[in-house]
Amino acid sequence: MSLQSVDIMLEKIILTARALVQGRAQSLEDISIHNTEKILKAFSKYRVADYYFKATTGYAYSDPGRENLDLIYAEIFGAEAALVRTQFVSGTHALAVALLGVLRAGDELISLTGQPYDTMQTIIGHKKSVSGSLVEMGVTYKQVELTEIGMVDYEAIGHAVNKNTRMVLIQRSRGYTARPSLNVAEIARICQTVKAINPDIICFVDNCYGEFTEQLEPTQVGADLMAGSLIKNPGGGLAPTGGYIVGRKSLVELASYRLTAPGLGAEMGASLGDSTRLLYQGLFLAPHVVMQAIKGAIFTAAVFNGLGYEVYPSAEAERSDIIQAITFYDEQKLTAFCQAIQRYSPVDAHALPIGGDLPGYEDSIIMAAGAFVQGASIELSADAPLREPYRAYMQGGLTYEHVLLAVSAAAKDIGAK
Ligand SMILES: *Cc1c(COP(=O)(O)O)cnc(C)c1O
Repeated sequence: MSLQSVDIMLEKIILTARALVQGRAQSLEDISIHNTEKILKAFSKYRVADYYFKATTGYAYSDPGRENLDLIYAEIFGAEAALVRTQFVSGTHALAVALLGVLRAGDELISLTGQPYDTMQTIIGHKKSVSGSLVEMGVTYKQVELTEIGMVDYEAIGHAVNKNTRMVLIQRSRGYTARPSLNVAEIARICQTVKAINPDIICFVDNCYGEFTEQLEPTQVGADLMAGSLIKNPGGGLAPTGGYIVGRKSLVELASYRLTAPGLGAEMGASLGDSTRLLYQGLFLAPHVVMQAIKGAIFTAAVFNGLGYEVYPSAEAERSDIIQAITFYDEQKLTAFCQAIQRYSPVDAHALPIGGDLPGYEDSIIMAAGAFVQGASIELSADAPLREPYRAYMQGGLTYEHVLLAVSAAAKDIGAK
């Protein structure tokens, strides 16, 4: 599509959206400059050198690339220790290893941000029984619902959390819900509230989609443990697979015993092929790539709002994750949106996404993902549960230009509300 072929109204909306992104560019750059500097300092401190990027084999004892990357993640996230591994198959796996590694039968886990992300519900196993889930293994689970407008309910937290609570779960990003993402300042306030009840309670953050959207990370403001995916923000679009856990040393160690085996922990795990270089290079690029994605999300919000649709967050809102929701109230429009994103993908542009079942998810899901790394959602992607109110969740974009082209095409296909 050439922008010339878009009708006049849409052309105006697109120009206005581009100007709005331009107006916010400098403050977004401030964040990526800060985070890039933080990463450069950590790379320098840990003397990153060419030999770190070499592949290792077998047990891979003393793999300098792996060991220093753990130290660098810990430094950047303001934590004592980290576990950064391609052996995590996904973000869900990293989150599961943290939870299953730390919690024991009889412990109480409380979600403070309502219903957790779909795949987290299976790890917890509170909705239906799942073999090997936390609940099956004797962990008690409760959740504090968000208020009607999706805000954290501090009063309810005060009633639910008690001095015997072992861990609280805080989900930063919105997931497949319309609530706001939590910013880091809010996460700090939640942690303070919990620590005032008992300083030993572990504040665990699902940080998926949040990394490098702000200058600080949750572990710098009171979170004890945190996990996320390397095919989202911190992999910078280059990490071929993997996840990370950062936090207090004793907790990261417990997680490492779950990832490998009790007693083995973090000291083994081969770095195959070119993966170590890609994790370092991806981390180096991540602050910039995250801002490309955020510019794309702001553009999308402005365009679809201009066309009369509900968007969340708004084009003007501060962001703490890279997700943009658009509500269509119409299955066909939602499908058309995902199909346009797919058509404008660098890979698999010829594929036509339709709804289907995915392991760990309850509803039928439609996904547009034409990514270089399968399922990477730091690359431009859109997905939606096929249920009312037919809301698309779009995220990622390695370049703003790509998001601009794909979203403009989607807007042209769908038209005004
Ligand atoms: C993406 C995501 C996860 C993990 O999903 P994976 O696809 O397994 O990486 C968990 N929680 C939230 C909020 C997420 O956005």
